[in-house]
This record gives sequence, structure tokens and C-alpha cells, in this order.
Amino acid sequence: MELLTIGAFSRASRLSPKALRLYDSLGLLTPAHVDQVSGYRFYRPDQLERARLVAWLRRLGMPLARIGAVCDLALEAPDRAAKQVAAYWAEAEAELVARRALAADLISYLNGEENNVPAPQPALAIRYAARSDIGRHRDRNQDTAYAGQRLLAVADGMGAAGEAASAAVIEALKPLEGALPAGSLLNAMQDAVRQADSGLRDLGVPGTGSTLTAMLWSGSQLALVHVGDTRAYLLRAGELFQITHDHSVVQALLDQGKITPEEAESHPQRSLLLQAIDGNGPPQPDVSLHDAQAGDRYLLCSDGLTTVVSVTVIRDSLTAPGDPEQAVGHLIDLANEAGGPDNIACVVADVVESRS
Ligand code: MG
Repeated sequence: MELLTIGAFSRASRLSPKALRLYDSLGLLTPAHVDQVSGYRFYRPDQLERARLVAWLRRLGMPLARIGAVCDLALEAPDRAAKQVAAYWAEAEAELVARRALAADLISYLNGEENNVPAPQPALAIRYAARSDIGRHRDRNQDTAYAGQRLLAVADGMGAAGEAASAAVIEALKPLEGALPAGSLLNAMQDAVRQADSGLRDLGVPGTGSTLTAMLWSGSQLALVHVGDTRAYLLRAGELFQITHDHSVVQALLDQGKITPEEAESHPQRSLLLQAIDGNGPPQPDVSLHDAQAGDRYLLCSDGLTTVVSVTVIRDSLTAPGDPEQAVGHLIDLANEAGGPDNIACVVADVVESRS
């Protein structure tokens, strides 16, 4: 095979000889041959593809160490390489959002709209875990739990195709993982719920539906969308707040003062929902936006947890030391130890300060 000189390779790959020497020293792109005497580098024509990939990723601003990992994956598992690029880009966008907020604060200070130089907010990130468990009495698991770079979600399916329904509503939200929507987070999530609803209509199994409680991370805020009796809680400074309101008959009776909280616990219509995503026309999800603080811990869960484990015990469990993975495992154990009458889905996400 004819080898290309570094000059010819540089022109073909649009990488400068200086860059090529740097990539060689970093092990990103090793020349096929280095002349012992002159030290000249030579490249095979089939190395052009890797060189172009390196150039492309440099242009995206990806750090060199990560470029190496993506290039190695690109050969054997292009789909995983694609995921790495998507994950990098999600981080880059989150960082940009945080910098945009910093710039806005500083501009308003310099324009005399603020009296004090604002203390820069630390950059935030989320650490998360998700799991769903069949419990001890059901023969199918119709709950779905999901946590990714940006999306956190639990869904409790019901009816003949409940598993498919809960999986489908979360699937409808997953495109939001890829790139932050250009417009409002809340509108994007409402659109995704509408998509999920028409998806279930296409599924065409009457009586099948799902709840949905999902949050989308923007880098500084979490957008919440909620339908049904799955729930979201926020643990902040040791206190646990329920930040969703059940769309259930029992909750409505409670709100109207027609039953007491004690009666609600054993009410025969406890599982009857006022709203679900079931393909019968777009539901009216509750939506809200939450400012994130370092140290916040979010829990999304299905009624398989909340009907058998008290809020106090949930709070104690979430306050105990441990990462999100351990917290999820512990909550599922608690529900099973309490009899595990239903499927259990849990997502735990911690807001942490990231490198800045
Ligand atoms: Mg359930």
C-alpha cells in the first residue's frame, strides 16, 4: 500500500501537520510508519477516516481523551460511539445554559440593576439510578422506571398491555434526552405526552393505559410533568416534599374534605384514577418548573411504594447515606418487606456540584 507523507495526509484530512504530531503524541492517530533516520511520519490512506473523525470531534470541542474513546468505539460499536457523542453534547449544552445564566446576572449587575456582584452559582449536575421491581404478588411487572443524562421517569401501566403502555409513554419522552428543546421545556414535555397518548391509541388495546411522572434536567432546573398517581418528591435540607398531586378519586375526596387521610388509606377505590394516558384524547398533565440546588434529592415512584411505605419511612431512607443506586435498592426492599402487593418503580436523582 502506498503511504502518504504527512503533508499529503494533512491536506486530505484538513488537519495541520502540527495537529497530526500532537495526535500522534497523544496516541489518537499513530502514523503507519516513521522514518528512523529523518523522523518523517507516513500515513495509510485508510487512516483518513479516523483522522476526519478526530477533526470533526475537535470541532465539536470534545476533549482529546474522550475523542480517543469515541474513535476506538466507532470501529467496533458505532451505535455506542453515537451515544458517547450525544452524551458529550448534552453536557456541553447544560454547561452553556449555566454560563448563559451567569452572563445574564453579570450583565444586569453591570447595568446597575443589581447592587452586589452576584456570587456565581456553582455548576450543577445530576447523579441518578432507576429500577422497577415486580413485587411479591403480581405475576407481571407493568411499571417502568428510567433515568438518563436528562430524563427521569416512572410509569405505572394498567390493563391487558400495561407493560407495553408504561414502556411506550417513557419511550415517547426519550427524544428529549438527545437535545434540549429550543423552546420551553414544559411545552416540549406536554408535546411528548400528547405523542404518548396517540401512541397508545395506535396500540389499540382498550382499557390499557399508564400513569407518568417525569422530570427533564436542563442544567439548572427540572421540568416536571405528571399524570395519574405515580409521584415525585423533593428531599431538601432534610425535609421531604411531595411535589405532585395524585389524579385519583381518593385524592379528590380528600381535597373536598369528604374523607380523612386514615379513610383514604383503606378506601376501596384507592386505585381509581381521574386521569391516565390511555389513548382516549390528550390528558391534561400537571406541569411545573423547579430550580435545582446542590444537595437536592428527587424521588419518582409508583404507588407500589407509597401505598405500603409511609412518608416518614421514605424520608428516613432517602436521608440515610448512600448513592442513588443504594437509595433505590433500599426503597424497593422496604416495599417488598411490607408485603410487596404491587409492582414498584423508583428513580432517585441527586443534584450535585459539578466541576467548574
Ligand atoms: Mg401500581
